[in-house]
Amino acid sequence: MEECSNTGIVIQMQDYSIHDGDGVRTTIFLAGCMLRCQWCANPESWTPNRKLVFYRHKCVECMKCAQACPQNLIPCKMERPNDACTACGKCVEVCTQKALDIACSEKSADELVKKLERDALFFRYSGGGVTFSGGEPFLQHKFMRVLLDRLEELGINSWVETCGYFDFEAVQDLIPKFSHFFLDLKHMDSAKHKEFTGCGNEKILENAKKIYATGVPMTIRIPTIVEVNLDDNNLEKTAQFMKNSLPTATIELLPYHELGKAKYISLGMEHKFVKFTTPTEEEISHAYDIFKAYGIEIAEYK
Ligand code: SF4
Ligand code: SF4
Repeated sequence: MEECSNTGIVIQMQDYSIHDGDGVRTTIFLAGCMLRCQWCANPESWTPNRKLVFYRHKCVECMKCAQACPQNLIPCKMERPNDACTACGKCVEVCTQKALDIACSEKSADELVKKLERDALFFRYSGGGVTFSGGEPFLQHKFMRVLLDRLEELGINSWVETCGYFDFEAVQDLIPKFSHFFLDLKHMDSAKHKEFTGCGNEKILENAKKIYATGVPMTIRIPTIVEVNLDDNNLEKTAQFMKNSLPTATIELLPYHELGKAKYISLGMEHKFVKFTTPTEEEISHAYDIFKAYGIEIAEYK
């Protein structure tokens, strides 16, 4: 009997997403991840605990948050993370500037499904649906199991974006419930993969093959970063792996960007932000040419 949970830890739900699959989609970001990619744009996803986020640029120093805090903290001035903060959210409620927020809250399947049900018409007419992302969504497979069944009942299709680092046997009943997989391949050299993400790539490559064998369509996504994986040798090896083991999978290159930096600041994690170089259009085009030379198609969404 597979394990189920009616509640999960959600980082956020992003409506009207048009870059995470066909049609108009809602992306559900689930908390928790085993990898620690040095370029991660969602560091709030690393741990599933509720946490206070502060957007300094929005703050007008009205001090309403300090008056509301039951812990007698000054949320707009305090060092973060702060052990005394219980992430109760009282300060968030009184901040009219939306300078404070809570990341990673417990949500019930009912709560999420109610909201998604309201958008069912948009999904149907645009050919869209729901995309699960994270963090690593399969870490919350018990919650996804409940959500996937509920979405299936409503006729809403589900896609998933995964880093591939999860226990396949624990989630294999879920794989056919998805209409499409996005799987990230960060580096073909396991030692390099470990250097940049904290984990080797063996489990990810194995899982890629196991998922592919189920017949669910797949897109390989590469967060493309000059100092990490843009060299021809790595791109050739990735293309060879796809050609030999995932022959119908499509490719999508996601050029590194620095948009995540603001998140590190809002979480009090500036010191963890590592700056890399964004590839030029010519470099991305050259990388795509390598995949095309192996007969691999570039991902396109309807
Ligand atoms: S309530 Fe909001 S705007 Fe006012 S001081 Fe606190 S964080 Fe800043
Ligand atoms: S989340 Fe709660 S405990 Fe933390 S600073 Fe805000 S009001 Fe205080």
